[in-house]
Amino acid sequence: MIYDVIIIGAGAAGLMCATTAAKRGKKTLILDHAKRPGKKILISGGGRCNFTNYYIEPEKFICENPHFCKSALSQYTQWDFIALVEQYKIAYHEKTLGQLFCDDSAKDILNMLLSECENEGVTSEYQIDVLSTEKIEPDLFKIETNKGVFNCKSLVIATGGLSMPKLGATSFAFKTAENFGLNVLPTRAGLVPFTLPPELKTPLSDVSGVSLPISVSSGGMSFNEDLLVTHRGLSGPAILQISSYWEPGSDISINLLPNANFNEVLSEAIINNPNQTLLVFLSTLFARRFSEKLISILNFENIPINQLSKVKRAGIESNITNWLIKPSGTEGYRTAEITLGGVDTDQLSSKTMEVKSIKGLFFIGECIDVNGWLGGYNFQWAWSSGWVAGQNV
Ligand SMILES: Cc1cc2nc3c(=O)[nH]c(=O)nc-3n(C[C@H](O)[C@H](O)[C@H](O)COP(=O)(O)OP(=O)(O)OC[C@H]3O[C@@H](n4cnc5c(N)ncnc54)[C@H](O)[C@@H]3O)c2cc1C
Repeated sequence: MIYDVIIIGAGAAGLMCATTAAKRGKKTLILDHAKRPGKKILISGGGRCNFTNYYIEPEKFICENPHFCKSALSQYTQWDFIALVEQYKIAYHEKTLGQLFCDDSAKDILNMLLSECENEGVTSEYQIDVLSTEKIEPDLFKIETNKGVFNCKSLVIATGGLSMPKLGATSFAFKTAENFGLNVLPTRAGLVPFTLPPELKTPLSDVSGVSLPISVSSGGMSFNEDLLVTHRGLSGPAILQISSYWEPGSDISINLLPNANFNEVLSEAIINNPNQTLLVFLSTLFARRFSEKLISILNFENIPINQLSKVKRAGIESNITNWLIKPSGTEGYRTAEITLGGVDTDQLSSKTMEVKSIKGLFFIGECIDVNGWLGGYNFQWAWSSGWVAGQNV
């Protein structure tokens, strides 16, 4: 049997592509090596799936070609996905910064996509190993699997990136791209916690669990969100965001007091309570145990604040508002939410996701070198790229 389209990978992008193609009357088969589809959808957003964001903008995506994502994001927008969610009467809410989460469970999003696929007659095969893919005629691809050979007119690769190998992530998309002679940009973990050198990791691990709003900068980008100290290093939304812009070996700059002017706060404290120690003063700004660690890590002298010299004040201010930390690395693909890099967009049509030089071959979702910020941007890329491919297979 010859399918109109075979999609390899039944994750967010693959399922969206399958239902879109099938709605157009295309005979569609979706293959996945996992036992069940959409595993990442189920664990996403702490089990509530941050499925899109009110403020989807191309600037919130990282790609060698910053214009590439524009067409797909404008052809299938967050409002289109929200309309689908509403059609299925899935209750949702905005958590923060435009991020939309299910009220109940990420299962609602997966079930919605699976219902769409079922209603449109998409065929699926799980626990199947794809052994090879090749173009055997101008309009025909051959997919060899451990369950037999399948043929199709359009082949869509939607197997995602390398993050979370425990959930079944593989390098299939990258290897397939290379087998078809395409360029794959170097990959690395994104939206991932930082690990720290021992001299920072050891003292900070005593205060793991402490969370505070910060501003963090690196690689020419800044984020104002929360920092979370963990027993392995630094995490929290601010850190995950900046990790996608951080170059290994470089510093990150943390402003621990992004919403106030440290000098003004200190001057006021000197007027109101001049004899309080630096620790007591810092504890009015941060958790006490965190303040203790700051004093020891940053070598502040814990003296009454009215005895601080100008030079010492300046030193404290600079450390609080521009704390330079050199992470030793990241936690890597084991805990990363996304994979940066991937299939080079130069080779793809931004309107359809089809490989320019190979008619009928498409790449969608995370395997492409398009990576969103934390906050529903990555799923929106999966929906948008999956939808445009589904319209053009
Ligand atoms: C813990 C976690 C939480 C996240 N939370 C959010 C969130 O709340 N909001 C958000 O926008 N993004 C979130 N993300 C990112 C988001 O999950 C991904 O960007 C998105 O799932 C990518 O969709 P995809 O379809 O390209 O790939 P995936 O969803 O990864 O799907 C790929 C599919 O391909 C299959 N596959 C892989 N290799 C093979 C192979 N060799 N043969 C056959 N099948 C294969 C896999 O089994 C999988 O079903 C999160 C990621 C993680 C890891």
